Amino acid sequence: MHGRKRVLVTGGAGFLGSHLCESLLAEGHEVLCVDNYYTGKKDNILHLLKDPHFELLRHDVTFPLYVEVDEIFSLACPASPVHYQHDPVQTTKTSVHGSINMLGLAKRIGAKILLASTSEVYGDPRCHPQTEAYWGNVNPIGPRACYDEGKRCAETLFFDYRRQHGLNIRVARIFNTYGPRMAADDGRVVSSFIVQALQGKPLTIYGDGSQTRSFCHVDDMVTGLRRFMDQEDDFPGPMNLGNPVESSILEIAETVLRLTHSRSDIEYRPLPENDPVRRCPDIGLARQKLNWEPSVNLEQGLQATIDYFKRTLEL
Ligand code: NAD
Ligand code: UDP
Ligand code: UDP
Repeated sequence: MHGRKRVLVTGGAGFLGSHLCESLLAEGHEVLCVDNYYTGKKDNILHLLKDPHFELLRHDVTFPLYVEVDEIFSLACPASPVHYQHDPVQTTKTSVHGSINMLGLAKRIGAKILLASTSEVYGDPRCHPQTEAYWGNVNPIGPRACYDEGKRCAETLFFDYRRQHGLNIRVARIFNTYGPRMAADDGRVVSSFIVQALQGKPLTIYGDGSQTRSFCHVDDMVTGLRRFMDQEDDFPGPMNLGNPVESSILEIAETVLRLTHSRSDIEYRPLPENDPVRRCPDIGLARQKLNWEPSVNLEQGLQATIDYFKRTLEL
């Protein structure tokens, strides 16, 4: 096929990665999915195994990897607080050593490489909504630091490989993304509330629920990531990708209860340390450079996610 590319997706058996692999295969590209199944699972990509253009490799990106591809999407990293705080040293290693290895690979073979960075680089932001120019407010020694500082260092490495070795990089700052194939036990707010509501258990709100997040459906995110990778000019980012519609956590709980017709109670728990108070992306840059903005509204997206959990949990 004309224009078929060989694309490496690290973290390809995870939530976002599996949707990205699917989208790349649907357009006829060859996909090499690399994952160590730390938080991802084979079930997420089982349906892709029959595609002859899909290849799966169990590998930990903190170790060197020698393959030949045209593009690299670097997604490998646990993403939910419960998962990334389980083994914080490994989390930092994955972002730092993993990025060095993937950048070394990209350098050797001349591949374009995209980093799945995060809105967590802004920490508990003093600027609202967050633009790419904001340097962030991150506690370097707190429980979230292994993830936040790991990604900040990964961004540093990407920009230094560009300056020092002329690599063609893309740094995407992904804001909270949700949808089918989130792990039921990842402790993230959308998956937790849906599973709790479906099981008739209380919805656990941390703090008073007034803290905000902005939730982007995974299909919109995959479109944004692919458009960023494909853009012709050599613009490295960083670029915010997310949905600019902000909701409080209490609103999310109420919407989930309504959409699931659940009679679960709400239970208030202490707010975790360093939990950001507000988060909302300014996506002006993505609109301008990629002509991208999310199109799935929160209720549609939550409904699709509820349907997924109903199927997989057999509720
Ligand atoms: P996920 O946990 O579902 O996926 C991460 C994948 O990486 C998993 O399959 C896991 O097994 C794999 N992995 C972890 N460490 C690895 C290692 N050392 N070697 C190889 N594979 C490894 O999480 P996700 O939500 O799909 O996140 C994907 C990427 O997007 C992550 O880099 C995350 O930081 C970033 N991101 C996600 C969100 C979000 O809201 N989902 C927000 C910001 C950034
Ligand atoms: N690397 C890799 N695959 C490659 C090339 C390099 O995994 O195809 C790893 C290698 O382990 C190295 C790292 O990437 O440690 C950084 O490579 P680079 O060439 O930048 O630095 P150096 O090899 O000089 O340490
Ligand atoms: N949260 C909550 N109950 C839960 C899980 C999360 O109230 O069961 C809150 C959490 O404290 C945070 C927000 O929801 O304020 C988003 O949490 P998540 O872990 O999904 O994402 P992140 O904090 O990394 O943005």
